Amino acid sequence: MHKLIDGNKKFIEAFQTEQELYKSLADKGQHPKVLWVGCSDSRVVPEFIVNAKVGDLFVTRNIANIIPPAEADDSCTSSVLEYAVLHLEVKHIVICGHTGCGGITAVVKGTPKDTKIHEWLKHACQSKELTIDSNRNELVLNTIKDNILLQAENLLTFDYVKERFDQGLLHIHKWLYDMNSGKISFFDDINWNPLNR
Ligand SMILES: [Zn+2]
Repeated sequence: MHKLIDGNKKFIEAFQTEQELYKSLADKGQHPKVLWVGCSDSRVVPEFIVNAKVGDLFVTRNIANIIPPAEADDSCTSSVLEYAVLHLEVKHIVICGHTGCGGITAVVKGTPKDTKIHEWLKHACQSKELTIDSNRNELVLNTIKDNILLQAENLLTFDYVKERFDQGLLHIHKWLYDMNSGKISFFDDINWNPLNR
């Protein structure tokens, strides 16, 4: 905890050098253009990996970057979505998964029943069977990718998201962060491509 307490001391110094930005955000409110749906994993910090500033991203993080579909009636993620889309009027939603995701690894390996994690991960993409040609790491990575696509589909089960998406007012981005290189890939509806070449 000392690290965190000292950390705030350091942050206050940084705060003072960017006082104008912080003051404007405090006085005028937030106007982020992006809703970021990421994993709770401590190694995948949205603001770090895209070099975003305070006020740039409206963020929700949970195990395996999940947005349960509308009919699941999960009030946590759906209230974030509702606030971001209807009140903040974000123009972009990023679903960002990551390599080595513990949540998806748990999906592949199986989680103990009667746990909250097991219940939550029902909303994640279920892994396919291991085939003779595939190994477990490959299966985990493919499930991580499929899960990003599934969560992007789940977004469209919300009428207000679908409506804005169809009108071209809201863009959905499917991103995969590679923990070994810091690089992000995006899915263009056919392939995964590097975000930066
Ligand atoms: Zn994860």
